[in-house]
Amino acid sequence: MTYNVDPELQQPIRDMMREFCPKEIEPLGLKHDREPDAFAHDIFKKLADKGLVGYVMPKEYGGQGRKKIEYATMIEELSYFDPPSSLLSAVSQLAVDPIMNFGTDEQKKKYIPKAATGELIPAFALTEPNAGSDAANQSTEFEDAGDHYVINGEKIFIMHGDVCDYAVTFGKLKGDEGDRPKVSAIIVPSDAEGFEGSTLKHKMGMKYATTGRIIYKNVKVPKENFLGPAGKGFKMAMMTLDGARVGIAAQSTGIAQRALDESIKYAKERVAFGAPIAKLQAIQWMIADMATKVEAARLLTYKAAQLQDKGESINLSASQAKLFASEAANFCVDRCMQIHSGYGYIGEFSIAEKLYRDQRVCEIYEGTSEVQRLVIANNMLRK
Ligand SMILES: Cc1cc2nc3c(=O)[nH]c(=O)nc-3n(C[C@H](O)[C@H](O)[C@H](O)COP(=O)(O)OP(=O)(O)OC[C@H]3O[C@@H](n4cnc5c(N)ncnc54)[C@H](O)[C@@H]3O)c2cc1C
Repeated sequence: MTYNVDPELQQPIRDMMREFCPKEIEPLGLKHDREPDAFAHDIFKKLADKGLVGYVMPKEYGGQGRKKIEYATMIEELSYFDPPSSLLSAVSQLAVDPIMNFGTDEQKKKYIPKAATGELIPAFALTEPNAGSDAANQSTEFEDAGDHYVINGEKIFIMHGDVCDYAVTFGKLKGDEGDRPKVSAIIVPSDAEGFEGSTLKHKMGMKYATTGRIIYKNVKVPKENFLGPAGKGFKMAMMTLDGARVGIAAQSTGIAQRALDESIKYAKERVAFGAPIAKLQAIQWMIADMATKVEAARLLTYKAAQLQDKGESINLSASQAKLFASEAANFCVDRCMQIHSGYGYIGEFSIAEKLYRDQRVCEIYEGTSEVQRLVIANNMLRK
């Protein structure tokens, strides 16, 4: 039985996901993983129809209005069965968050309801070829041209940037040319002339939640699409990422739990030297360490989600949860591979190989583990 901090809220979500995902999601995920990189529209539609794309988007804007602790539980369960599917859901939330928190009423009405139902696919476009961890170092430029802005620049590693209908795009206003330009944000429709999204090929894992490059060549965007106060885009992006890190912590916890469960099952079945390998202390210690890390990851994740529900700052707790859970997941997929050995390394025998590939990016996106340590240290040292 998986531990819940709020059983009445969390257990029904687990029960629903454990009924839905093995039948409707996991088989499609396994199929797409063996195909060339392409967005899984069929899985996205199933998730959207089930309300899992607009899960925490407000009811008044067509979402389910769920709490963050419910979201963390849903993402954890979805990741357990199919990690890329959890991204298909989480990316829409990531992209809509700045609109929800900083958009005008018109922007909310125009962009959120269709994202909540999956009719529109949004993207969150912050990273550039020379602005990754140093996300404030933006080169994308918004030039004021009277009733519209002209956008020029390039974004890289943008989830769903290849298939999106609009991209919440960060950049700097032309003329704001200081060493550290102030960041602003604008909603850019992908059908605008000069917007080119393409798929990045040969991704290691999470393959069918695709990652793209976006080139903006003299893209004209009406001024009404400008998002939030000018020059406050970096703060908007960082606030958004704080929330999204709880999602990645939940994703990591789900992956880690699956790796543990697969390891236990296999260790009981596989016989070596006349007995199941589960009888070997070397294997037992791996399982003990995995189980302990999974539980700690889960508790840190729920702590951050509950603080978010209370409206408290999660800058520290989200980074701690994301750092610990993603590294715990790395530990677990590695030990899962070791326990399965040859039958783990070759994908046709077990899911260990897919988990190993899907997990790795959890330590990279939405801030690398090094960046999480910077955030945590900053919180500690300013006390
Ligand atoms: C699959 C995938 C999906 C993504 N999705 C999105 C998305 O939807 N939207 C978006 O905007 N971005 C997205 N990203 C980008 C992601 O957030 C960046 O890749 C990440 O922030 C790291 O940036 P970088 O890759 O440029 O690495 P760099 O910033 O170049 O870092 C290289 C190395 O240096 C380390 N490093 C850098 N600075 C410091 C420092 N000050 N102290 C210590 N170590 C440091 C890093 O930790 C890393 O180990 C995605 C990336 C991937 C791979």
